Amino acid sequence: MKEDIRSLTRGELSERIRLFGEKSFRADQIFDWLHKKSAEDFDTMLNVPKALRKALSTELMIYPVSKELVQISKKDGTRKYLFRLYDDNLIESVFMRYEHGNSVCVSSQVGCRMGCRFCASTTEGLVRNLTAGELLGQVYEIERDTGERVGNIVIMGAGEPLDNYDNVVRFIRLLCDEKGRRLSERSITLSTCGLPEGILRLREEGLAITLALSLHAPNDEKRKRLMPIANRYPIAEVLSACKAYYDQTGRRLTFEYSLVRGFNDSMEDAAELSSLLKGLNCHVNLIPVNPVRENGFSPPGREEVLAFQNKLEKNHINVTIRRELGRDIDGACGQLRRRVLKESKA
Ligand code: SAH
Repeated sequence: MKEDIRSLTRGELSERIRLFGEKSFRADQIFDWLHKKSAEDFDTMLNVPKALRKALSTELMIYPVSKELVQISKKDGTRKYLFRLYDDNLIESVFMRYEHGNSVCVSSQVGCRMGCRFCASTTEGLVRNLTAGELLGQVYEIERDTGERVGNIVIMGAGEPLDNYDNVVRFIRLLCDEKGRRLSERSITLSTCGLPEGILRLREEGLAITLALSLHAPNDEKRKRLMPIANRYPIAEVLSACKAYYDQTGRRLTFEYSLVRGFNDSMEDAAELSSLLKGLNCHVNLIPVNPVRENGFSPPGREEVLAFQNKLEKNHINVTIRRELGRDIDGACGQLRRRVLKESKA
């Protein structure tokens, strides 16, 4: 299999170009084509000599992330993309417009093996990891398609990013490369179901990205019923890794809490959550659970959500309710891919 040129760091690319017997400025030109101009083909790199383009294409490839389908929300303009990869796997990404700029939610894996019970991405397990180039491809294709610049990235689509650690960190470094898209580390959020070793490793990377933890329950007993990973790692261990991340990076932590009607949405749950997070520099993001047909979970009503928010606020916890963008377009993780896969099997 040819190597993925989009996944190479600038240093690695220079080294490859040197091995081709070329001057280092050629590496800069090619990096610029790949990461600033989003080239999809070596032949578009017109200032690169034809012979070098040919040599490159014998060993390396720009793996495609091709737009298969786009659903545009009539309510808020959110766009949900379905992309096809070189091996015909399908992945989803979402483009959202916020007051502070455009944001893209990328997938980090095809499928997922974490098994969270409310999530549509995990029902058929993990198919494979995405490469750094395929992660970047989602952003570059969306910028091309919308003609708009993307300033914020959330690694919150299908997959567990810390289960694809090396490719995800490579993706972040490439996104922030000063000769590429130049995103600021602070505009990137990585969301994890809570793998303590991964969190502690991430802490050492020296990246100023925001860490979001999918907490979803105020205690281990309830968390285990939603998230199999909670059987491996108790909340105390995960929170201690998050604290260590905060101590090193100074980045305020985000906790995601999906509200499930009658399960984790009571005032007692809110009180328990408040004491769990007391004293942490953090922010809680409440997400009324997005019903996925098979699992039978339903979200609480608006009033219950507001009451839950109030209770946390009274206990001095920063809290927001996630804007429900794109609910009319299979907005929840993995739902569009699942629908299309099912239809193609039918
Ligand atoms: N694996 C990572 C990132 C992908 S999931 C993680 O667990 O954080 C992104 C977020 O969406 C997580 O907080 C996840 O728990 C949540 N999520 C998935 N399906 C959902 C649903 N049906 N309703 C509400 N939130 C959901």
